[in-house]
Amino acid sequence: MYRINENYLKLPGSYLFSNIGKKVAAFSEAHPEAPIIRMGIGDVTQPIVPAIVEALHKAVDEMGHAETFHGYAPDQGYEFLRTAIAKNDYQARGCDISADEIFVSDGAKCDSGNIQEIFGPDVKIAVCDPVYPVYVDTNAMAGRTGTYDARTETWSNVVYMPCTEATGFSPELPKETPDLIYLCFPNNPTGAVLTKDQLQKWVDYANREGAVIIYDAAYEVYITEENVPHTIFECEGARTCAIELRSFSKNAGFTGLRLGATIIPKDLKCGETTLHSLWARRHGTKYNGAPYIVQRAGEAVYSDAARAQLKEQIEYYQKNARTIYQGLKDAGYSVSGAVNSPYIWLKTPDQMTSWEFFDFLLEKANVVGTPGSGFGPSGEGYFRLTAFGTYENTVEAIERIKRI
Ligand SMILES: *Cc1c(COP(=O)(O)O)cnc(C)c1O
Repeated sequence: MYRINENYLKLPGSYLFSNIGKKVAAFSEAHPEAPIIRMGIGDVTQPIVPAIVEALHKAVDEMGHAETFHGYAPDQGYEFLRTAIAKNDYQARGCDISADEIFVSDGAKCDSGNIQEIFGPDVKIAVCDPVYPVYVDTNAMAGRTGTYDARTETWSNVVYMPCTEATGFSPELPKETPDLIYLCFPNNPTGAVLTKDQLQKWVDYANREGAVIIYDAAYEVYITEENVPHTIFECEGARTCAIELRSFSKNAGFTGLRLGATIIPKDLKCGETTLHSLWARRHGTKYNGAPYIVQRAGEAVYSDAARAQLKEQIEYYQKNARTIYQGLKDAGYSVSGAVNSPYIWLKTPDQMTSWEFFDFLLEKANVVGTPGSGFGPSGEGYFRLTAFGTYENTVEAIERIKRI
């Protein structure tokens, strides 16, 4: 008789977005006329820009002719895309990353979930609290996180780094030394960032303690402040302690096209073994690459035409973020995020729990957001709104919130 991977049974149900869906559906049924505005889910809404659509069309046509047809992609991704990433995202910022240190994938969610496979079964992970749930759940599936305590909503073998008002929504160096540290900045869900000096402290810490930082840079393009690093490789010494995850989802609207990349410097070694060689082995064995047409679309992201079009698109979302931030502030809310992020993180008023505020907002303003408690225990009493909607809806939602 076979057995299942029982680690899966230890996972708490992922109720967050299904609970939100159910509550919204029930409310709509009771109030069919209610003009609901959704500011909950972190998905973009603006279409793929014309310069990228053009590159897609061209690549599709190439696939239809024997002379220009492309089958399986190279294991690490096409050279044209890896070179474009290395040049534009790293070398242009003065970061020493070469094209052969880049692994193209179909998105940062898979990479952030899969990367734990190349580490030992008993490594200890540290995560921010609140956190993007993928980091913890995938380590739980691999049996690394111990037992789950439903009361405290924490795993026995995970180092949690609370990010609250008291810490300026950034993590503090943990007391207990972890092996793997997951950092995501600009952060989902809080929208917080680390300055270059702050991130340098983490790099120094990881090098000193022999830990690896998994750095999720999915929201890098939303950074507006000068002293905030766009990649961990801006920090000295990151080549010996960091892996970076990149995504084309939030900077170019590829949530439905699917494209990402993992950067593993060849200086990152455990004894004599490079992590680069392990990830190369994994990629070669388990993965057959992002589609040719999508990799061509990814290359086009760096063209002058696409850059100009994307700049406008990102500015559109940033304007929404500022509108929400300022509107809530004017209404007396305590808010953070937004400045370098499409996320606005607000403190619920009158000691409401995150879910109480969810119901309150849905009923009184017909606005849907995401309860902070869904991202971890330290998210309780907070709430996330996203800037990914239309400007008109964003303005309307804030007007309604101001009126309640
Ligand atoms: C949206 C998001 C990603 C991107 O995932 P893709 O699989 O590339 O779409 C990665 N990390 C975080 C924290 C995100 O919120």
